Amino acid sequence: MIGDGVDGETCALSSGMKELFREQDYTKVGYFQSVIEAEGIATIVRNKHLTMSGLTEIPIPEFFPALCVVDDTDYPRAMEIIRHQITENSKGADLEIECPACSEINPGNFDICWSCGKTIVNSDLPAGGGESV
Ligand SMILES: [Zn+2]
Repeated sequence: MIGDGVDGETCALSSGMKELFREQDYTKVGYFQSVIEAEGIATIVRNKHLTMSGLTEIPIPEFFPALCVVDDTDYPRAMEIIRHQITENSKGADLEIECPACSEINPGNFDICWSCGKTIVNSDLPAGGGESV
């Protein structure tokens, strides 16, 4: 039968495993899995087979793909890696932007040049508001 015997069974006996991350979007779960496994930590994604069969159309967190560590002792380290990844992805502040007016270098989260006060346009970051000029 199709769908039977996918590598999901390993998860079935995983009652003791700690869950690191759960997200409806499997691409994120898969991304964290590869990052963590690159550090030598064994992980398993629960509910992966549900994603494959399209059941995630139903937004029930119980059915979301969940990333778990195989060995509980790896949990703190794996959690640390995830936290690090999330902060890395969410900051644009360590970018540097050159002011178009005076060529001073400004931190990427500055809207206005610290040196000359002109508005800095940072094309690398998504436009936040609908500011019309
Ligand atoms: Zn300037």
